Amino acid sequence: MKKMIGLDKLPALWEQLSAEGPLYLPIEERGVVCFKPWYEGAVVRLDALNGVVPPKDIFLPREETYMRYQGGSQTLEIEAVSPGPDDKATLFGVHPCDLKAVEMLDRVYIDQEPGDSLYRRRRENATVVALACSSPDPFCFCNLFEVDPADAPGADIMAYLSEQSLYLETRTEKGETMLAKAESLISDAKDEPERPREVKTTDFGLYLEGLSDNLKERFDDPAWDNLYKSCLSCGVCTYVCPTCYCFDVEDFGHEGAGERFRCWDSCMFGHFTQMAGGHNPRPDRKERVRQRFLHKLQYYPQTYGEIACVGCGRCLRSCPVNLDIVQAVKALGGEAVEQR
Ligand code: SF4
Ligand code: SF4
Repeated sequence: MKKMIGLDKLPALWEQLSAEGPLYLPIEERGVVCFKPWYEGAVVRLDALNGVVPPKDIFLPREETYMRYQGGSQTLEIEAVSPGPDDKATLFGVHPCDLKAVEMLDRVYIDQEPGDSLYRRRRENATVVALACSSPDPFCFCNLFEVDPADAPGADIMAYLSEQSLYLETRTEKGETMLAKAESLISDAKDEPERPREVKTTDFGLYLEGLSDNLKERFDDPAWDNLYKSCLSCGVCTYVCPTCYCFDVEDFGHEGAGERFRCWDSCMFGHFTQMAGGHNPRPDRKERVRQRFLHKLQYYPQTYGEIACVGCGRCLRSCPVNLDIVQAVKALGGEAVEQR
C-alpha cells in the first residue's frame, strides 16, 4: 500500500524523525542547498535539484578522528572513535543518481576486504528515502548511466512529490519501520502518485560502448596533452563528485597521546601522491587529470564493471574552466558521431 503525507505536515514529520537520530535533508543556507541535519526553522528544499555537495559526506565525513591513543614507551591504549550502533540516521530526499553513487562507494568501502567499519556502520544504520526527479536541469545526464530519475532501486522508501502531497512507497523493512513511527501523520494513498515517467536527461552525444577497454591502450595518447592544460588543480571536481572517495590519513600526536584523523583528499592536488622521501609519481597536472578520468572511465570499470559516473552534472556545473567528464569523454573519442 502506498502512503502519503500532506506537504503542510512535513515539518511535523521532520521533528518526529529527528527525535530518532540525525535527519539529513536538502537544506538551503545562504542560497546553497546541501544535505544537513534538520533543525527547527531550516529551509527544506525537496523541490531543489542535486545540492552542490552530494550526500556522500554523511557516510564518509569530510573529516573525522577515528582513533585516539595514549601511552608511554611500554604500553599503548587505543580508543576507537566510531558512530555508535544507535546512531541511526535518516537521509530524506536523495535523488536516484546520488543513491546510485553511494552504491558505487559501497563496493569500495564495504564489499572489499578489509571493509571500512566506520562507513559500513553508517550505511547499515541509515534509512534512505529517495526522491524522484521530475525536471532535471540541462547539466543532468544520468540516463546515459541507466539511472531512472524517477526510481531508485536501492532506496528504503521511494518518494514522489506532487503539488499538495508527498507519496511514499516502502521498499524495505527499514522503510516500513520508519513510516510506522510516523503513523499519525501519514495516511494510505487513495490515488496513484503523479509518478514522473520516462524523465529524459540531456543527451551530450556520448557513446561509451568499448571506451573503458579502448582506454587501456591510450595512457600515452596525445589527447591528454591538450586536455589538462586549463586545469587549475583546485580539486572542486573531486569534492563535488558523488563517486570520488579518496581520503588522507594523518596522526596528530604530542607527548604520550595523539589521534589518527582522516579527511577528504583530491587526486587533483600536487601533493596527493607525494611520498615520504619526496618522490612524486604524478608531479604535473597532466598526470593528475589523466588519473582522475582514467579512474572513472577505465580503472573503476575494470574492477567493478561500470563507469564511475552517474551523470549528476556537478563537475559540469562546478569546474571553473569547463574541464568536466563530458569534455574528457569527447576528447578521448567517446562521441557518438565518431562511433556510428
Ligand atoms: S578539472 Fe576543473 S574543477 Fe577539477 S581541479 Fe581542474 S579546474 Fe578544478
Ligand atoms: S564525474 Fe561529474 S557528472 Fe559524473 S558523477 Fe562525478 S560529478 Fe557527477
